[in-house]
Amino acid sequence: MNFNPTPHQIKRVRHELRIREVEVVRVLPLSKNFISVTFSGEDLADFTSLSFDDHIKFMFTNAKGEAVRRDYTPREFNVEKRELTIEFALHDGGDASAWAQQATVGQHVSIGGPRGSMVIPMDYDWYVLIGDATALPAIHRRIEELPQNARATVIMQIADLDDSRQFQTQAEVAVTWVTDSTALIAAIKSLNLAAGDGFIWCAGEASSMATVKQILLTDKNHSSKDMSVGSYWKQGLSDFHERL
Ligand SMILES: Cc1cc2nc3c(=O)[nH]c(=O)nc-3n(C[C@H](O)[C@H](O)[C@H](O)COP(=O)(O)OP(=O)(O)OC[C@H]3O[C@@H](n4cnc5c(N)ncnc54)[C@H](O)[C@@H]3O)c2cc1C
Repeated sequence: MNFNPTPHQIKRVRHELRIREVEVVRVLPLSKNFISVTFSGEDLADFTSLSFDDHIKFMFTNAKGEAVRRDYTPREFNVEKRELTIEFALHDGGDASAWAQQATVGQHVSIGGPRGSMVIPMDYDWYVLIGDATALPAIHRRIEELPQNARATVIMQIADLDDSRQFQTQAEVAVTWVTDSTALIAAIKSLNLAAGDGFIWCAGEASSMATVKQILLTDKNHSSKDMSVGSYWKQGLSDFHERL
């Protein structure tokens, strides 16, 4: 008998805050609006990222010479090689997006954190992952990390279908790509949540995510304790982060 007295324990882990100096070692355009940048440095020897939900502060200098900090997901980390990869979703009018477009091997930046990790266990019966382009790196990482018997439904909003991608995973994953927030909301409304216990993780633009959370709580009657909804950016504002 598989009896687990405390199933679905979400673990919150604090990490000592460290600022690390790193160097760009690879720049890889992934698709029309995505650039992957890999950083390396001895400072990464004790870097740790326990969850796809983690973020680091990416600290760089903009075109005007000003110091800028933005939140990004550790997409991949290789401790032996001391290599950390971030995937930048490109957009107009953003310093970090502009930085990614000019990134060159040999440039130096700093990263801070992660300060903490929310580790969502693998013992749920199913997962739903919802997000826009800013959440695609986190969702991709989660899909890769899910074990063989896991089931996930993914709804991804990207502005351009050129940015859709294949996921390598052992899990059973169904992905729907949509190209605007109206289609995202429609896809969530038509979602049939499977029987059993499920965890829903969502991240993206603030007003869109507020609507998503409302639908999941009221229309879908999903418990807020088995859900995480994050605002990864807000239309018209710089450097915005909020857990809804
Ligand atoms: C926990 C967390 C993890 C994140 N992980 C990633 C990640 O892995 N990859 C990633 O690309 N982003 C990620 N983001 C989002 C990223 O931090 C924001 O998009 C950030 O605002 C980009 O900084 P910027 O300097 O380019 O633009 P900003 O100077 O912050 O914003 C300038 C303008 O652009 C708008 N804007 C910001 N982002 C977007 C966007 N994506 N599309 C259209 N308009 C936008 C703003 O509303 C503002 O009007 C994450 C955010 C959080 C909070």
